[in-house]
Amino acid sequence: MLLNTETNLFAIIGCPVKHSFSPIMQNKWFEKKHLNCVYLAFEPKDYELKHTIKSLKDLKFQGFNITIPHKVKAMKYVDVIDKSAKKIGSINTVINKNNKLYGYNTDYLGFAHDLKTKKVVGENKNILIIGAGGAARGIVYALKICKAKNIYIANRTSGKSVKLAKEFKIKNIDIDNIKDILDTIDILINCSSCGMQKDDKLPFGAGKVKKNLIVYDLIYNKKTPFVDFAKRNKLKVFSGEGMLIWQGAYAFNIWTGDFPDITIAKKLLKKFLK
Ligand code: NAP
Repeated sequence: MLLNTETNLFAIIGCPVKHSFSPIMQNKWFEKKHLNCVYLAFEPKDYELKHTIKSLKDLKFQGFNITIPHKVKAMKYVDVIDKSAKKIGSINTVINKNNKLYGYNTDYLGFAHDLKTKKVVGENKNILIIGAGGAARGIVYALKICKAKNIYIANRTSGKSVKLAKEFKIKNIDIDNIKDILDTIDILINCSSCGMQKDDKLPFGAGKVKKNLIVYDLIYNKKTPFVDFAKRNKLKVFSGEGMLIWQGAYAFNIWTGDFPDITIAKKLLKKFLK
């Protein structure tokens, strides 16, 4: 793709952002659709976020993604926030329409879509979520839509999960008490960063589990203690690869009105993770 004065600008902002797969995926999708667009990456620190978003707007960027740790704070710096994103409390996708910034959350859409493609049904299920950060908010929102029976949330710092449970009307459970409900759980979701560090351990003790318990780990680039736990117990386990690709596909759709080729992204991600 030849860049010229007509090229439409897109970006991801996060800190750190060097690990991000999004520039590879979005640029390939633009190329395949013959769109005169380019997707860059910027790494603003917390105190630079407001200025960075204003700069992207002034430079007429058509859209951008937002990643760790700016998804919540960025809400303050856009003009309009989508209804679902408001409820979730974070944005990861912005479109610039007539010099107005519109913020969306496609993480929850990506997660819900990935569950569907994997034929994982949340309806009437007992679901346990570990972690209460930005990602957990979108996951809880998606699970509430699909009418889960019980959603439990547990977090290393219990104050955060207590707050989130209250806000979304789900059940907080102390990490130390997980063993009491573990054998009733149908789907276990790791929404925490546990597994990103080499020495991270499963944050709850072993216990009896259902034979058909499904483990879904949002982390996609590491062999986490949750993946080990699933393998040890011969359980079905999914990583966050699908969610990562689908949240990007929904962002692409917001910017272009079109859906990209998911197969290409899967192939690229496989290479990227090698
Ligand atoms: P975040 O806002 O920084 O929250 C991190 C959460 O993880 C907090 O609840 C934190 O607990 C918990 N945590 C961190 N280290 C832990 C450990 N060693 N043991 C137990 N709990 C731990 O991050 P986030 O945006 O929610 O993202 C969480 C993870 O999901 C990240 O690893 C991210 O890469 C992944 N993610 C994947 C996708 C995808 O598309 N696949 C999308 C979004 C996020 P405290 O409150 O106690 O600190």
